[in-house]
Amino acid sequence: MNKWKWYVTNLILPLLVIYAFPWVFPNEFYVHLAQTFAITYLVIVGLNILVGLSDQLSLGHVGFYAIGAYLSAILCDKAGINFFVSVLISSFVAAGFGAVVALLSLRSKGPYLAMVTIAFGELMGIISNRWVDVTGGPAGYYSPTPSIFGFQLHAVEYFWFVGIIAVLVTIAANNIFKGRFGRTFIAFGNSAVASEVLGVNVRNWKVMAFAISAFLAGMGGGLFTFQNGFISSTTFEFDKSILFLIGVIVGGSGTKWGPVVGTVIVVLLPQLFQSFVDYHLMIFGGILLVSLIMLPDGIVGELSKLALFQKRRKSDHTGKTFQLAEKPELELPPSVTGTLLEMREVAMYFGGLKAVDNVNIEIAGGSVHGVIGPNGSGKSTTVNMLSGVYTPTGGQLLWQGKDITKFAPHSIAKEGITRTFQNLQLFQDLTVIQNVMMGFHRHFHTGFLPNVLHIPSVKKEEEAYSQKAYDLLRIVGLETKVFHKASDLSYGEQRLVEIARGLALKPTLMILDEPAAGASPVEIEKIMDVISRLKAAGLSIVLVEHHMEIVMNICDKITVLDFGQKIAEGTPQEIQEHPKVIEAYLGGEEVANLVAGKRSVS
Ligand code: ADP
Ligand code: MG
Repeated sequence: MNKWKWYVTNLILPLLVIYAFPWVFPNEFYVHLAQTFAITYLVIVGLNILVGLSDQLSLGHVGFYAIGAYLSAILCDKAGINFFVSVLISSFVAAGFGAVVALLSLRSKGPYLAMVTIAFGELMGIISNRWVDVTGGPAGYYSPTPSIFGFQLHAVEYFWFVGIIAVLVTIAANNIFKGRFGRTFIAFGNSAVASEVLGVNVRNWKVMAFAISAFLAGMGGGLFTFQNGFISSTTFEFDKSILFLIGVIVGGSGTKWGPVVGTVIVVLLPQLFQSFVDYHLMIFGGILLVSLIMLPDGIVGELSKLALFQKRRKSDHTGKTFQLAEKPELELPPSVTGTLLEMREVAMYFGGLKAVDNVNIEIAGGSVHGVIGPNGSGKSTTVNMLSGVYTPTGGQLLWQGKDITKFAPHSIAKEGITRTFQNLQLFQDLTVIQNVMMGFHRHFHTGFLPNVLHIPSVKKEEEAYSQKAYDLLRIVGLETKVFHKASDLSYGEQRLVEIARGLALKPTLMILDEPAAGASPVEIEKIMDVISRLKAAGLSIVLVEHHMEIVMNICDKITVLDFGQKIAEGTPQEIQEHPKVIEAYLGGEEVANLVAGKRSVS
């Protein structure tokens, strides 16, 4: 989009509409409704980042709203701080509470996570109701009239004020959406484990999403206080949290325009059901349930599936051009000689099941080390331990001599080890190139605020890495699928995307868990070719694979597992002739595979 068009659509037009609104509707009721719209919109934009992007749930957002409302009223009233400064301070405090709630809820799993947020919202509701000395309880708290530089803001001016904030927050949220922060939120929402093995500390990022979301809820609460000059505890009840959620989900969670549509609904619903106040919770809960079933992608989500919008979306991307270097170079760290990774008497027990038992493996730098064995022999469990997804129940993992046995996956990724997954773990809601961009996670440096403002250095970083991602996609032969949704690709292509995404990390060691599983014969050729080229480039690889022609052709050394134990180790030649291996593979397809592999080397 060119610069002028951007200014017109994001700044000038919305501001004109906001400026004109009170002239077109010179009516107190409408102006009040418009204020409510702008204020509620802030909360829903925040909740959309949490629910829509990062795929976390909050059923207690009213709690952050209440903190913003009361704290800004008290700061302005008791400490004489300017109203908007009070709102900002309260928003930061709400963000702090958001972080704490996130940390607490992350300690629990599944439904308990949502319950922590409910408990928090209820707690805040009870405090506002019972702590009458401070909050005024149901009788309410009167806040001062907002003013800026001595000018009091009356209804129309206050609408303009909150309207401008809504426009600025929209721009900030869109900047988050289009940069690495939004991408990371979507990524760990889609697959936490894949994000971790690319170096994302998912727990911290979840907390961040919560804090951002709580910040905006706090800001909405603060601005709500000064809208009416009065707040009462009856505002901060559970139905409000549900209403906010309706805004996100019915509007279209994770979409840019969803919050706009959702806010209209949220503002109108209480008006429509004004005479049924006692039944609000039931009505709103029902609406939420029905929309979750009938409109899982929300109004905006469903509309964008229509052909008309699809076309527009595609053309958005064709504007992007990439440099076509002669032949893209694979960037790798200097190769390590000697032992790279050592497994020392490693074990992984699941209750009584010994998935991996007392296994010793040494992986040499610059080599391709194969791991084979029948189904259920412990290959993926080994990969999971090497990548930090499982912590071994016994033994030690040494990475260039360093003990990494208890490292989390993101710490192992930082050491330069990454992996692909047997059961594909692509980020389904991201495009192919965005998936690869996630691989650069540990190389990105721009901070949150520069991203919110989308300053030139952020743009430059983004462009530099999208070029690098494109180059990687050329290396694996997917340059024509750059802007496709990852989920639209064939099995084999998806496996290549995972390889490219791992390469983006610039790994010292790449672990491939059955990279050819489910691929067509033509794709298997391609995958084999890519792995051979990685080997030629000097990348150290651990290769778990069923297709013996790949294993026997590419591996320098092979370890054979059976029932969680190492039964053989050696060169492809040695392995093929090993009596124990032949015994383990006896019967069925596996022998045929092994023989086929033998034929292809000799
Ligand atoms: P492979 O990749 O060689 O086919 P796996 O490593 O996936 O085998 O599995 C080895 C054994 O460990 C299997 O019996 C499997 O059922 C078991 N296993 C793997 N992961 C888990 C887990 N998270 N919980 C319980 N059992 C597991
Ligand atoms: Mg497996």
